[in-house]
Amino acid sequence: MENLTQIFGTNVFSEEVMKQRLPKDTFKRLKRTLDLGEGLSPDVAEVVASTMKDWAVEKGATHYTHWFHPMTGKTAEKHDSFIEPTGDGRVNLEFSGKQLIQGEPDASSFPNGGLRATFEARGYTAWDATSPAFVKDGTLYIPTAFCSYSGEALDKKTPLLRSMQAVSEQAVRILKLFGDKETKKVTSTVGPEQEYFIIDKTLSQQRKDLMFTGRTLFGALPPKGQELDDHYFGSLKDRVSDFMKDLDEELWKLGISSKTKHNEVAPAQHEMAPIFSTTNIATDHNQLVMDTLVKVANRHDLTCLLHEKPFAGINGSGKHNNWSLGTDKMNLLEPGVTPHENAQFLTFLVATIAAVGKYAPLLRLSAASPGNDHRLGANEAPPAIISIFLGEQLTDIINQIKNGALTSSTKQTHMDLGVTTLPKFPKDVTDRNRTSPFAFTGNKFEFRMVGSTMSISGPNIILNTIVADILKDMADKLEKAEDFKSSLSKIIEELVQENFNVIFDGDGYDPSWVDEAEKRGLPNIKTSVEAIEIFNKPEYVALFEKFGVFTKGEVCARQEIMFEEYAKTINIEALASIQIAKKEILPAVLEYVSSVAESITNIKSVVSDADVSAQIDIVVKINNLYAEASKALAVLEKDLKKVQEIKEVGEQAKAYKFEVFEAMQALREPCDALEELVAEDFWPYPSYGDLLFRV
Ligand code: ADP
Ligand code: MG
Repeated sequence: MENLTQIFGTNVFSEEVMKQRLPKDTFKRLKRTLDLGEGLSPDVAEVVASTMKDWAVEKGATHYTHWFHPMTGKTAEKHDSFIEPTGDGRVNLEFSGKQLIQGEPDASSFPNGGLRATFEARGYTAWDATSPAFVKDGTLYIPTAFCSYSGEALDKKTPLLRSMQAVSEQAVRILKLFGDKETKKVTSTVGPEQEYFIIDKTLSQQRKDLMFTGRTLFGALPPKGQELDDHYFGSLKDRVSDFMKDLDEELWKLGISSKTKHNEVAPAQHEMAPIFSTTNIATDHNQLVMDTLVKVANRHDLTCLLHEKPFAGINGSGKHNNWSLGTDKMNLLEPGVTPHENAQFLTFLVATIAAVGKYAPLLRLSAASPGNDHRLGANEAPPAIISIFLGEQLTDIINQIKNGALTSSTKQTHMDLGVTTLPKFPKDVTDRNRTSPFAFTGNKFEFRMVGSTMSISGPNIILNTIVADILKDMADKLEKAEDFKSSLSKIIEELVQENFNVIFDGDGYDPSWVDEAEKRGLPNIKTSVEAIEIFNKPEYVALFEKFGVFTKGEVCARQEIMFEEYAKTINIEALASIQIAKKEILPAVLEYVSSVAESITNIKSVVSDADVSAQIDIVVKINNLYAEASKALAVLEKDLKKVQEIKEVGEQAKAYKFEVFEAMQALREPCDALEELVAEDFWPYPSYGDLLFRV
């Protein structure tokens, strides 16, 4: 590999490149768009476009694409070449300002939740200048937002940008009250840790379930799983290590600051983490990370599984969404050294706690997906109950605040917001609570519920918006207050008292937490379908409309798409289960059991009084399970047909969860039991043991 510093960002049309290549004045004007969100004038766009094209062509690009994030949670790209016929049989390479700024993909096939039906059929893409363009596989990628002609967001980027704007505006108001008149923008930052599995490609291709659904629909547990804890941080296998080197190089070229790589808890499970950036760029980058993981693995004859639960009984994969707010000078969730900074820190900390307390169902919703239903609450990932871990020292301080330490001067423990010095919170690994869904980790919050395949856009839209809401309330009151310090003390104390219940430092996996949480009145939304159902509650619609993040129509569209996605995913899984059981498992079982039966007659024909009770026992056992599986298969087929007919999308999604999904499980059980009885040579696909250990 070439020198890392030389390859880093080579394929990115970064600010540095722009500074070098653009005329000074153009760069200055573009910079105002980037930093302050000012509109871009056509003449600036024209110069930027042609400079960008020249740069991209030098990097080997022949095409450009408006790269966008439709509501599927995946990314979309349509490539157009730069060629422009000259009229005499030759071509020039051209790329205009208009082509840079706006595109009109024929987008009728993207999910729109009914949004476009009433408006223009086509959508348009608009350049998001805040996320840099890059060259990949001979194409210039331009990050864009995707909207309908009447302005509805049809993507995952637009509302994210709106939410960033919302939280920035409110945070700036708070900073102003603390005397910072300079800061014009506060940025929400994210560092997403990405978990994934790597297995052998040849083996994975022999499994239809992996091919169609990304997870195993059948499979008995291998003799060895993760019980020895020997995989976590263990030494990397050569094939995996080679793959990771290649992965890093690809990511670095794209300017993605891939920082950490290691083995995870489950066999064949790994993690990568980048250095954090703005939520917008982090979201774009995470999509690229997922894409690159799959492609580079393929090049190495490996298969990368991004699914939340590729293997039943083995740890699943998540995405830890490390989130904070910062100015160009400081991280607002970093405890300060001066009392003044501490008061400001406490303000943002308590605002986040209150936001999470007040809007826990929305956060839960933001982690809802069919794949994630296997994780949340399943004794490995955080439970479906939202709670906050603060660590001992902070919990102690919050406790004192709750008990009136800020406002009642008679109390012995009286804390003065402007005077109290807070300790520096050690980012000590031992002080980590791994079971909390929302943990303070020294200078940021780590939201651990997000699923490994999910776009991180949704969770960050919610985080930014709910924190903006609490900050707005605070700023509204404080701006009118006569005495800033005492009002702030009172507000913080009230927020702590109202939301103290959400703070929990214990073991989130302990079954007793479920009862305790119920006593505390914390919501426990167990399944995705139930979480999706709350999306359009009037109070949430009002919240989104207040900050211009979603209109009511956009909320309803998104809700419908989530239900639809849920239903379609389970539908595919059910169809795949039926096919695999019918065409692979049951025939293989018949073949094996016939061979055992045949062997009984064969043995008897040689030794008439031979003891064949053991063989008979196997035949009986297998035959019973075969009958059970056949019955379960019939039930699944019947249930599926019935559920496919349901018209209302929410009802249908629920029926997929509570009927079809359950019927799939009922089919899986006897099939997995059969796998343990049938000789390996007869079994139609590679076992869990093969998939997890043969890399
Ligand atoms: P861990 O022990 O959980 O891996 P790290 O300190 O390595 O903790 O951080 C994990 C992730 O959090 C990284 O992606 C890191 O860049 C990110 N992170 C650190 N500071 C911030 C911040 N201020 N805002 C958002 N993410 C951050
Ligand atoms: Mg972490």
